[in-house]
Amino acid sequence: MEHVDGPAQAKEYAETALEHMRQHEVPTTPVNFEVWYTYASGRDSELNEALDLLVSNNQPFTKDQNQAVAQQYLNVSDAANTVQETSQKIAESVNTVLGFMNEASDGATTYGESLESNLGAMANAENLESLRRAVETLVSDTKGMATQNALLKGRLETSSNEINSLRNHLESVQKEAMTDGLTGIANRKSFDTSLRQEAAEAMESGSELCLLLGDIDHFKKFNDNYGHQVGDQVLKLVGMILRDSSKDGAIAARYGGEEFAIIAPKSGMVSAESLAETVRTTVASKRIRKRSTGEDFGNITMSIGISLFKPGEPIADLIQRADESLYFAKNAGRNRVATERELEAVASE
Ligand code: GH3
Ligand code: MG
Ligand code: MG
Repeated sequence: MEHVDGPAQAKEYAETALEHMRQHEVPTTPVNFEVWYTYASGRDSELNEALDLLVSNNQPFTKDQNQAVAQQYLNVSDAANTVQETSQKIAESVNTVLGFMNEASDGATTYGESLESNLGAMANAENLESLRRAVETLVSDTKGMATQNALLKGRLETSSNEINSLRNHLESVQKEAMTDGLTGIANRKSFDTSLRQEAAEAMESGSELCLLLGDIDHFKKFNDNYGHQVGDQVLKLVGMILRDSSKDGAIAARYGGEEFAIIAPKSGMVSAESLAETVRTTVASKRIRKRSTGEDFGNITMSIGISLFKPGEPIADLIQRADESLYFAKNAGRNRVATERELEAVASE
Protein backbone atom coordinates (compact mmCIF):
# COMPACT_ATOMS: atom_id res chain seq x y z
CA MET A 1 0.00 0.00 0.00
CA GLU A 2 1.35 3.42 -0.92
CA HIS A 3 0.86 6.26 1.51
CA VAL A 4 1.73 9.76 0.50
CA ASP A 5 2.18 12.17 3.36
CA GLY A 6 2.31 15.91 2.83
CA PRO A 7 5.82 17.44 3.09
CA ALA A 8 5.28 18.91 6.56
CA GLN A 9 3.76 15.68 7.83
CA ALA A 10 6.51 13.58 6.25
CA LYS A 11 9.18 15.80 7.83
CA GLU A 12 7.59 15.41 11.23
CA TYR A 13 7.37 11.60 10.91
CA ALA A 14 10.93 11.41 9.62
CA GLU A 15 12.27 13.46 12.52
CA THR A 16 10.36 11.39 15.05
CA ALA A 17 11.58 8.20 13.38
CA LEU A 18 15.22 9.34 13.51
CA GLU A 19 14.82 10.38 17.13
CA HIS A 20 13.50 6.91 18.04
CA MET A 21 16.28 5.26 16.07
CA ARG A 22 18.92 7.29 17.91
CA GLN A 23 17.31 6.50 21.23
CA HIS A 24 17.19 2.75 20.59
CA GLU A 25 20.50 2.65 18.73
CA VAL A 26 18.98 1.40 15.52
CA PRO A 27 21.33 1.82 12.54
CA THR A 28 19.92 4.30 10.00
CA THR A 29 19.55 1.98 7.04
CA PRO A 30 16.74 2.66 4.53
CA VAL A 31 14.80 -0.43 5.67
CA ASN A 32 15.11 0.42 9.37
CA PHE A 33 14.08 3.95 8.54
CA GLU A 34 10.96 2.67 6.78
CA VAL A 35 10.09 0.63 9.87
CA TRP A 36 10.47 3.59 12.21
CA TYR A 37 8.85 6.05 9.84
CA THR A 38 5.83 3.73 9.75
CA TYR A 39 6.00 3.59 13.53
CA ALA A 40 6.04 7.38 13.76
CA SER A 41 3.06 7.62 11.42
CA GLY A 42 1.12 5.14 13.60
CA ARG A 43 -0.59 3.71 10.54
CA ASP A 44 0.20 0.09 11.34
CA SER A 45 -0.97 -0.60 14.88
CA GLU A 46 0.47 -4.12 14.85
CA LEU A 47 3.93 -2.79 14.01
CA ASN A 48 3.62 -0.21 16.77
CA GLU A 49 2.55 -2.86 19.27
CA ALA A 50 5.47 -5.08 18.27
CA LEU A 51 8.02 -2.28 18.64
CA ASP A 52 6.50 -1.05 21.90
CA LEU A 53 6.68 -4.59 23.15
CA LEU A 54 10.35 -4.93 22.27
CA VAL A 55 11.11 -1.61 23.94
CA SER A 56 9.13 -2.44 27.07
CA ASN A 57 10.87 -5.79 27.27
CA ASN A 58 14.25 -4.05 26.91
CA GLN A 59 15.04 -6.11 23.85
CA PRO A 60 18.13 -4.79 22.05
CA PHE A 61 17.68 -3.79 18.41
CA THR A 62 20.24 -6.16 17.00
CA LYS A 63 20.74 -6.60 13.27
CA ASP A 64 18.67 -9.80 13.34
CA GLN A 65 15.92 -8.19 15.37
CA ASN A 66 15.68 -5.23 12.96
CA GLN A 67 15.59 -7.58 10.04
CA ALA A 68 12.89 -9.73 11.64
CA VAL A 69 10.68 -6.70 12.34
CA ALA A 70 11.14 -5.38 8.81
CA GLN A 71 10.39 -8.76 7.34
CA GLN A 72 7.31 -9.32 9.44
CA TYR A 73 5.79 -5.87 9.21
CA LEU A 74 6.95 -4.53 5.87
CA ASN A 75 6.38 -7.90 4.26
CA VAL A 76 2.74 -7.21 3.48
CA SER A 77 3.86 -4.61 0.98
CA ASP A 78 6.72 -6.87 -0.11
CA ALA A 79 4.25 -9.63 -0.72
CA ALA A 80 1.94 -7.26 -2.54
CA ASN A 81 4.87 -6.17 -4.71
CA THR A 82 5.85 -9.74 -5.45
CA VAL A 83 2.27 -10.61 -6.32
CA GLN A 84 2.17 -7.64 -8.67
CA GLU A 85 5.52 -8.51 -10.25
CA THR A 86 4.57 -12.15 -10.67
CA SER A 87 1.20 -11.26 -12.17
CA GLN A 88 3.04 -8.94 -14.55
CA LYS A 89 5.38 -11.79 -15.56
CA ILE A 90 2.45 -14.10 -16.13
CA ALA A 91 0.78 -11.48 -18.31
CA GLU A 92 4.03 -11.10 -20.28
CA SER A 93 4.31 -14.87 -20.77
CA VAL A 94 0.72 -15.06 -21.93
CA ASN A 95 1.42 -12.23 -24.40
CA THR A 96 4.48 -14.09 -25.69
CA VAL A 97 2.35 -17.19 -26.22
CA LEU A 98 -0.26 -15.13 -28.02
CA GLY A 99 2.54 -13.72 -30.19
CA PHE A 100 3.62 -17.28 -31.09
CA MET A 101 0.04 -18.16 -31.91
CA ASN A 102 -0.25 -15.17 -34.25
CA GLU A 103 3.05 -16.07 -35.91
CA ALA A 104 1.86 -19.65 -36.31
CA SER A 105 -1.44 -18.54 -37.74
CA ASP A 106 0.35 -16.17 -40.18
CA GLY A 107 2.65 -19.05 -41.13
CA ALA A 108 -0.32 -21.35 -41.70
CA THR A 109 -2.03 -18.74 -43.89
CA THR A 110 1.12 -18.28 -45.98
CA TYR A 111 1.50 -22.05 -46.26
CA GLY A 112 -2.16 -22.38 -47.30
CA GLU A 113 -1.67 -19.74 -49.98
CA SER A 114 1.50 -21.33 -51.30
CA LEU A 115 -0.20 -24.74 -51.23
CA GLU A 116 -3.03 -23.33 -53.30
CA SER A 117 -0.74 -21.70 -55.83
CA ASN A 118 1.46 -24.83 -56.05
CA LEU A 119 -1.55 -27.07 -56.57
CA GLY A 120 -2.74 -24.61 -59.25
CA ALA A 121 0.70 -24.75 -60.86
CA MET A 122 0.61 -28.57 -60.76
CA ALA A 123 -2.84 -28.72 -62.31
CA ASN A 124 -1.79 -26.35 -65.06
CA ALA A 125 1.66 -27.87 -65.58
CA GLU A 126 2.32 -28.16 -69.25
CA ASN A 127 5.35 -30.34 -69.00
CA LEU A 128 7.21 -32.56 -66.58
CA GLU A 129 9.75 -29.89 -65.73
CA SER A 130 7.16 -27.38 -64.49
CA LEU A 131 5.38 -30.19 -62.59
CA ARG A 132 8.68 -31.15 -60.90
CA ARG A 133 9.31 -27.51 -59.91
CA ALA A 134 5.81 -27.23 -58.43
CA VAL A 135 6.29 -30.46 -56.44
CA GLU A 136 9.72 -29.32 -55.20
CA THR A 137 8.33 -26.01 -53.99
CA LEU A 138 5.50 -27.87 -52.29
CA VAL A 139 7.91 -30.25 -50.51
CA SER A 140 10.19 -27.44 -49.37
CA ASP A 141 7.22 -25.32 -48.15
CA THR A 142 5.89 -28.33 -46.24
CA LYS A 143 9.29 -28.97 -44.64
CA GLY A 144 9.49 -25.29 -43.68
CA MET A 145 6.06 -25.51 -42.10
CA ALA A 146 7.05 -28.67 -40.16
CA THR A 147 10.22 -26.96 -38.85
CA GLN A 148 8.24 -23.92 -37.81
CA ASN A 149 5.70 -26.11 -36.04
CA ALA A 150 8.42 -27.96 -34.12
CA LEU A 151 9.96 -24.63 -33.11
CA LEU A 152 6.59 -23.33 -32.00
CA LYS A 153 5.90 -26.48 -30.00
CA GLY A 154 9.21 -26.04 -28.16
CA ARG A 155 8.50 -22.38 -27.44
CA LEU A 156 5.01 -23.15 -26.21
CA GLU A 157 6.33 -25.83 -23.91
CA THR A 158 8.90 -23.45 -22.43
CA SER A 159 6.27 -20.77 -21.95
CA SER A 160 3.80 -23.12 -20.37
CA ASN A 161 6.45 -24.37 -17.90
CA GLU A 162 7.30 -20.77 -17.10
CA ILE A 163 3.64 -19.90 -16.51
CA ASN A 164 3.20 -22.94 -14.27
CA SER A 165 6.18 -22.09 -12.10
CA LEU A 166 5.07 -18.45 -11.87
CA ARG A 167 1.61 -19.59 -10.83
CA ASN A 168 3.06 -21.80 -8.08
CA HIS A 169 5.25 -18.94 -6.92
CA LEU A 170 2.24 -16.64 -6.82
CA GLU A 171 0.28 -19.14 -4.77
CA SER A 172 3.05 -19.51 -2.21
CA VAL A 173 3.50 -15.73 -1.91
CA GLN A 174 -0.24 -15.27 -1.45
CA LYS A 175 -0.25 -17.96 1.22
CA GLU A 176 2.67 -16.34 3.01
CA ALA A 177 0.91 -12.97 3.03
CA MET A 178 -2.05 -14.57 4.84
CA THR A 179 -0.02 -16.48 7.43
CA ASP A 180 1.25 -15.32 10.82
CA GLY A 181 5.04 -15.60 10.80
CA LEU A 182 5.42 -16.87 14.36
CA THR A 183 2.61 -19.40 14.75
CA GLY A 184 1.99 -20.43 11.15
CA ILE A 185 -1.79 -20.03 11.49
CA ALA A 186 -3.90 -17.39 9.70
CA ASN A 187 -2.91 -13.79 10.43
CA ARG A 188 -5.19 -10.88 11.25
CA LYS A 189 -5.59 -9.88 7.63
CA SER A 190 -6.62 -13.38 6.70
CA PHE A 191 -8.95 -13.54 9.73
CA ASP A 192 -10.74 -10.36 8.60
CA THR A 193 -11.22 -11.74 5.10
CA SER A 194 -12.39 -15.16 6.26
CA LEU A 195 -14.82 -13.76 8.81
CA ARG A 196 -16.42 -11.54 6.17
CA GLN A 197 -16.68 -14.49 3.78
CA GLU A 198 -18.11 -16.83 6.40
CA ALA A 199 -20.68 -14.23 7.52
CA ALA A 200 -21.84 -13.82 3.91
CA GLU A 201 -21.96 -17.59 3.51
CA ALA A 202 -23.96 -17.98 6.76
CA MET A 203 -26.52 -15.42 5.55
CA GLU A 204 -26.82 -17.10 2.19
CA SER A 205 -27.18 -20.62 3.52
CA GLY A 206 -29.05 -19.72 6.71
CA SER A 207 -26.55 -21.69 8.80
CA GLU A 208 -25.17 -20.56 12.14
CA LEU A 209 -21.75 -19.03 12.70
CA CYS A 210 -19.84 -18.52 15.94
CA LEU A 211 -16.78 -16.48 16.78
CA LEU A 212 -14.36 -17.41 19.57
CA LEU A 213 -11.85 -14.87 20.88
CA GLY A 214 -9.20 -16.15 23.29
CA ASP A 215 -6.53 -14.34 25.27
CA ILE A 216 -3.69 -15.86 27.28
CA ASP A 217 -4.02 -15.13 30.99
CA HIS A 218 -1.39 -13.04 32.78
CA PHE A 219 0.91 -13.37 29.83
CA LYS A 220 2.78 -10.19 30.61
CA LYS A 221 3.85 -11.73 33.89
CA PHE A 222 4.90 -14.92 32.09
CA ASN A 223 7.07 -12.87 29.72
CA ASP A 224 8.51 -10.89 32.60
CA ASN A 225 9.36 -14.07 34.50
CA TYR A 226 10.76 -16.24 31.74
CA GLY A 227 11.62 -13.90 28.89
CA HIS A 228 10.15 -12.92 25.59
CA GLN A 229 11.57 -15.89 23.71
CA VAL A 230 9.94 -18.44 25.98
CA GLY A 231 6.78 -16.36 25.57
CA ASP A 232 7.08 -16.74 21.80
CA GLN A 233 7.34 -20.53 22.20
CA VAL A 234 4.11 -20.44 24.21
CA LEU A 235 2.40 -18.48 21.42
CA LYS A 236 3.53 -21.16 18.96
CA LEU A 237 2.16 -23.88 21.20
CA VAL A 238 -1.19 -22.13 21.58
CA GLY A 239 -1.33 -21.62 17.80
CA MET A 240 -0.75 -25.34 17.30
CA ILE A 241 -3.47 -26.29 19.80
CA LEU A 242 -5.94 -23.96 18.11
CA ARG A 243 -5.12 -25.29 14.67
CA ASP A 244 -5.42 -28.92 15.78
CA SER A 245 -8.72 -28.26 17.55
CA SER A 246 -10.25 -26.47 14.56
CA LYS A 247 -12.10 -29.09 12.59
CA ASP A 248 -15.02 -29.10 10.13
CA GLY A 249 -14.02 -25.88 8.39
CA ALA A 250 -13.21 -23.93 11.57
CA ILE A 251 -10.44 -21.37 11.02
CA ALA A 252 -7.84 -20.63 13.69
CA ALA A 253 -6.09 -17.25 13.56
CA ARG A 254 -3.73 -15.07 15.53
CA TYR A 255 -5.86 -12.01 16.20
CA GLY A 256 -3.17 -9.85 17.81
CA GLY A 257 -0.15 -10.23 20.13
CA GLU A 258 -1.39 -12.91 22.55
CA GLU A 259 -4.97 -12.97 21.34
CA PHE A 260 -6.32 -15.72 19.17
CA ALA A 261 -9.56 -16.38 17.32
CA ILE A 262 -11.49 -19.27 15.87
CA ILE A 263 -14.17 -18.73 13.27
CA ALA A 264 -16.60 -21.62 13.57
CA PRO A 265 -18.91 -21.85 10.56
CA LYS A 266 -22.02 -24.07 10.60
CA SER A 267 -21.76 -24.08 14.34
CA GLY A 268 -24.24 -22.98 17.01
CA MET A 269 -23.46 -21.99 20.61
CA VAL A 270 -23.42 -25.56 21.92
CA SER A 271 -20.72 -26.85 19.60
CA ALA A 272 -18.77 -23.57 19.81
CA GLU A 273 -18.74 -23.86 23.59
CA SER A 274 -17.54 -27.42 23.39
CA LEU A 275 -14.77 -26.36 20.97
CA ALA A 276 -13.75 -23.54 23.32
CA GLU A 277 -13.69 -25.93 26.28
CA THR A 278 -11.46 -28.31 24.34
CA VAL A 279 -9.03 -25.50 23.55
CA ARG A 280 -9.10 -24.14 27.09
CA THR A 281 -8.48 -27.53 28.77
CA THR A 282 -5.80 -28.54 26.25
CA VAL A 283 -3.91 -25.27 26.79
CA ALA A 284 -4.16 -25.60 30.59
CA SER A 285 -2.99 -29.22 30.49
CA LYS A 286 0.34 -28.48 28.79
CA ARG A 287 3.40 -28.09 30.91
CA ILE A 288 5.80 -25.57 29.45
CA ARG A 289 9.34 -26.85 29.56
CA LYS A 290 12.61 -25.70 28.07
CA ARG A 291 13.59 -28.46 25.71
CA SER A 292 17.34 -28.07 26.11
CA THR A 293 17.48 -28.05 29.91
CA GLY A 294 14.10 -29.46 30.93
CA GLU A 295 13.53 -26.33 33.03
CA ASP A 296 9.88 -26.19 34.05
CA PHE A 297 7.93 -22.97 33.45
CA GLY A 298 4.66 -24.30 34.81
CA ASN A 299 1.55 -23.94 32.72
CA ILE A 300 -0.48 -21.19 31.16
CA THR A 301 -4.22 -20.70 30.87
CA MET A 302 -6.49 -18.97 28.45
CA SER A 303 -9.85 -17.20 28.66
CA ILE A 304 -12.27 -17.42 25.77
CA GLY A 305 -15.36 -15.42 24.78
CA ILE A 306 -17.95 -16.55 22.25
CA SER A 307 -20.51 -14.70 20.15
CA LEU A 308 -23.14 -15.99 17.73
CA PHE A 309 -23.64 -14.20 14.41
CA LYS A 310 -26.96 -12.41 13.97
CA PRO A 311 -27.65 -12.49 10.23
CA GLY A 312 -27.27 -9.00 8.78
CA GLU A 313 -25.44 -7.43 11.70
CA PRO A 314 -22.15 -5.60 11.13
CA ILE A 315 -19.09 -7.84 11.62
CA ALA A 316 -17.77 -5.33 14.17
CA ASP A 317 -20.76 -6.10 16.42
CA LEU A 318 -20.05 -9.83 16.29
CA ILE A 319 -16.41 -9.18 17.23
CA GLN A 320 -17.40 -6.78 19.98
CA ARG A 321 -19.69 -9.33 21.66
CA ALA A 322 -16.97 -11.99 21.53
CA ASP A 323 -14.55 -9.45 23.05
CA GLU A 324 -17.00 -8.45 25.79
CA SER A 325 -17.58 -12.14 26.57
CA LEU A 326 -13.82 -12.63 26.75
CA TYR A 327 -13.53 -9.84 29.28
CA PHE A 328 -16.44 -11.29 31.17
CA ALA A 329 -14.43 -14.54 31.40
CA LYS A 330 -11.37 -12.58 32.57
CA ASN A 331 -13.33 -10.78 35.26
CA ALA A 332 -14.95 -14.01 36.36
CA GLY A 333 -11.52 -15.34 37.30
CA ARG A 334 -9.80 -16.31 33.97
CA ASN A 335 -9.11 -19.83 32.64
CA ARG A 336 -12.76 -20.03 31.58
CA VAL A 337 -15.16 -19.76 28.67
CA ALA A 338 -17.95 -17.18 28.60
CA THR A 339 -20.60 -16.59 25.96
CA GLU A 340 -22.67 -13.59 24.98
CA ARG A 341 -25.58 -15.20 26.85
CA GLU A 342 -23.81 -14.33 30.09
CA LEU A 343 -23.63 -10.70 28.95
CA GLU A 344 -27.37 -10.69 28.33
CA ALA A 345 -28.00 -12.20 31.76
CA VAL A 346 -25.93 -9.46 33.41
CA ALA A 347 -27.62 -6.76 31.35
CA SER A 348 -31.10 -7.89 32.40
CA GLU A 349 -30.26 -8.16 36.09
P1 GH3 B 1 -4.71 -10.74 31.07
O1 GH3 B 1 -4.88 -12.00 31.82
O2 GH3 B 1 -5.61 -9.66 31.58
O3 GH3 B 1 -4.87 -10.93 29.61
O4 GH3 B 1 -3.24 -10.25 31.34
P2 GH3 B 1 -2.05 -10.14 30.33
O5 GH3 B 1 -0.81 -9.89 31.10
O6 GH3 B 1 -2.03 -11.34 29.46
O7 GH3 B 1 -2.52 -8.94 29.45
P3 GH3 B 1 -1.81 -7.66 28.91
O8 GH3 B 1 -2.66 -7.21 27.76
O9 GH3 B 1 -1.55 -6.70 30.01
O10 GH3 B 1 -0.42 -8.15 28.37
C1 GH3 B 1 -0.31 -8.83 27.18
C2 GH3 B 1 1.11 -9.26 27.09
O11 GH3 B 1 1.31 -10.11 25.96
C3 GH3 B 1 2.06 -8.12 26.86
C4 GH3 B 1 3.17 -8.71 26.09
O12 GH3 B 1 4.27 -8.89 26.96
C5 GH3 B 1 2.66 -10.06 25.62
N1 GH3 B 1 2.80 -10.26 24.19
C6 GH3 B 1 2.05 -9.74 23.18
N2 GH3 B 1 2.53 -10.12 21.97
C7 GH3 B 1 3.61 -10.90 22.20
C8 GH3 B 1 4.55 -11.59 21.36
O13 GH3 B 1 4.48 -11.58 20.12
N3 GH3 B 1 5.53 -12.32 21.99
C9 GH3 B 1 5.61 -12.38 23.36
N4 GH3 B 1 6.56 -13.13 23.90
N5 GH3 B 1 4.77 -11.72 24.16
C10 GH3 B 1 3.79 -11.00 23.61
MG1 MG C 1 -4.47 -9.23 25.60
MG1 MG D 1 -3.62 -11.69 28.16
